Amino acid sequence: MARVTGWIRRLLDKPGSVDLAPFQRIVAEAGGLEPGLRDQAEIGLGDTARAAGNRPGADWVGGAEFCAVVRETARRTLGQRPFDVQLVGMLAMLNGHVVQMATGEGKTLVGALTAAGYALRGRRVHVVSVNDYLARRDAEWMAPLYGALGLTVGWIAEGSTPEERRAAYACDVTYAAVSELGFDVLRDRVRTDPADLVVPAPQVAVVDEGDSVLVDEARVPLVLAGAADPGVALPEMAALARRLSKGYHYTIDEEGRNVFLTPKGTDTVEKALGVDLYADPGVVTQVNLALHAHALLTRDVDYIVRDGRVQLINTTRGRVAMLQRWPDGLQAAVEAKEKLTPSESGEILDSLTIQSLIRRYPEICGMTGTALAVADQLREFYDLRVAVVPPNKTCIRVDEPDRIFATAEDKESALLKEIADQHVTGRPILVGTLDIAESERLAEALRAKGLDPVVLNAKNDAKEAEVISRAGARGAITVSTQMAGRGTDIRLGGDEAAEREREVAELGGLYVIGTGRHESSRLDDQLRGRAGRQGDPGGSVFFVSGQDALLTAYAPEERLPPAEADGVVRDKYAAHLVAHAQRVAEGVNLEIHRNTWRYTRLLEQQRAQLMERRDEILHGDMAARALLTACPERYRELTEAVGEDRVRRAARQIVLFHLDRCWTEHLSFLSDLREGIHLRALGRLNPLDEFNREAVPAYRAMLDEIERRSVETFEKADLTRDLDDQGLRRPSATWTYLVQDNPFGSEWDRVLSRVAGAMKRRKR
Ligand code: ADP
Ligand code: MG
Repeated sequence: MARVTGWIRRLLDKPGSVDLAPFQRIVAEAGGLEPGLRDQAEIGLGDTARAAGNRPGADWVGGAEFCAVVRETARRTLGQRPFDVQLVGMLAMLNGHVVQMATGEGKTLVGALTAAGYALRGRRVHVVSVNDYLARRDAEWMAPLYGALGLTVGWIAEGSTPEERRAAYACDVTYAAVSELGFDVLRDRVRTDPADLVVPAPQVAVVDEGDSVLVDEARVPLVLAGAADPGVALPEMAALARRLSKGYHYTIDEEGRNVFLTPKGTDTVEKALGVDLYADPGVVTQVNLALHAHALLTRDVDYIVRDGRVQLINTTRGRVAMLQRWPDGLQAAVEAKEKLTPSESGEILDSLTIQSLIRRYPEICGMTGTALAVADQLREFYDLRVAVVPPNKTCIRVDEPDRIFATAEDKESALLKEIADQHVTGRPILVGTLDIAESERLAEALRAKGLDPVVLNAKNDAKEAEVISRAGARGAITVSTQMAGRGTDIRLGGDEAAEREREVAELGGLYVIGTGRHESSRLDDQLRGRAGRQGDPGGSVFFVSGQDALLTAYAPEERLPPAEADGVVRDKYAAHLVAHAQRVAEGVNLEIHRNTWRYTRLLEQQRAQLMERRDEILHGDMAARALLTACPERYRELTEAVGEDRVRRAARQIVLFHLDRCWTEHLSFLSDLREGIHLRALGRLNPLDEFNREAVPAYRAMLDEIERRSVETFEKADLTRDLDDQGLRRPSATWTYLVQDNPFGSEWDRVLSRVAGAMKRRKR
């Protein structure tokens, strides 16, 4: 029944913008209250707001008086009087929507007003930022506003200590990057003393750059790993791989994603290691990993070595992927290949996708420049709706049609010429590239022409923000990869006086040039949105070639119409083809997201259920009661020997240990199961059904196993000695990271992306 209703609702209630009229009426009413508030000298806004907000049953937050009060408070404390559209955005967010507001419209302020509103309703609010730098900047920037409303605000960054984190979470509003929130949740997962917990129960999430966090990064797993016995001689494996040669000892598949030992190679490896390879799956895995690292991953393409560490290059974002690593064995193998001291290797104790992390919050809202294009997904994955808020001043940016070329070479020379021609006028130019390599190549070519571009990639967030904020200065040429500096505003004239701003505006404002269309139209729009903020003049254009990856990967069978003498393709079909390729790419990504979610949903349910039990055990004496029921005699015996209190504590420690241990094993079982399940699709079974068919009983078996092991330990434990030494030793160290998409892809994702690609092509 629930499914049917959902289906009908989706059909009748097509995703579109939420109706803003009710919010606009409230804001209009608030306008009338403004003069009255202005006249009140030093009014205790904080007291008024709090007293009124806490009025029982009062629907004060979200009403006209509330709007007027927060507007006046922002004006007095920040020197920014929220525009009507900002109040409308705030109201939409207080109603649990994701608002779409263009770049430069002041979403930081809207987010803060919203967070304050939820906090005044008595909720604990987490503002999810894009990175540590912005979390701190925004919390500090908005602090006077919160203070005047009688609210406390804190922020968390990678370097924050547990005490600092606890203090920040104790505030009414806490700013943090999504990864830090997730890592704190994961670390709390293995604590055995309630006093050590850091994160309070989730209540409200206000997500900045909502589409990026909720959709683009939704599948990214956050991982908690623990030190395990290294066991394997990695340097020897790496040395061995180095001695093998391609073609003779091993071969690589066409897509460069897999490597196989030849019989000759197998022979050599077996002789070198003195083992029978196929009798020892553990060794086979290690050899494979060493070979992968040796033959498929290339230094300075897939990763760089810096400060004695391997740092991944995120090819989609074109920057060093901080805090990211490959799945464990592969990371260690690459480190061994580069002869580095191995970073700690370990086993995954628990993991959580960003989507699951956010879904823990009973109330979610967000803001971004581009939400409407993912309205379907926000609805499907989070039950969120999009409210499109118009800009404060009409956008007058000129978006030119794509310039399409047959070859990459023609595209590049036209691009260079365009940059040089525009630069002569003094107009600031922001060039958006698709990856690091391209940004560097382009900058090199510009320098060869005597120009002086600033290149932005792989720097720290604060520097990025600084460079980006200067990109609007007269004569500036900034070459940037997509995500760099996101969240930072580009003011015309740079940080200079109004006079400079006018001067640059007269030149036409910021000119944004994309060196290629992205795999998603949202990314294109975000780049364009850098220009034309707050009614500024500005322009944007994308350069595209028939050899761009977007076209070769997603419309491989199509041909661009022929180019004219100047290399430009002007036939209308070309633009159609580019749009088509982009739609296919978007469809493939959505299908992969959906598929991941189908598999993680069951896992999430199991996780939530188990964690609820864990909480009960952690905070109560459920473990002791369970063991008393299971082995009453032993329980009495121990109580007499060491006292009830000691037995209770031991019982909790024992059960928590086995619960955490079994969950770790269950996760690894499920991940193997999922990796292998696609093979069954060939046998015409639905892989998801198959997965669920095995995962459900495995969970039940795990619960029994926790009980069995707990009883076993309890029966033989010596409570006068430390339990750690009696088989309950936890990992000596734990650490957290984000998993970079497996560079070789999950087999299933690959199968799927081909199928989805073929489907879309047929539909056209
Ligand atoms: P967004 O996140 O929407 O791209 P920001 O929050 O970074 O935009 O704000 C962009 C700029 O606009 C900031 O410099 C901010 O101070 C300014 N701003 C925002 N709201 C107002 C306002 N109501 N009055 C004056 N300036 C504002
Ligand atoms: Mg912003």
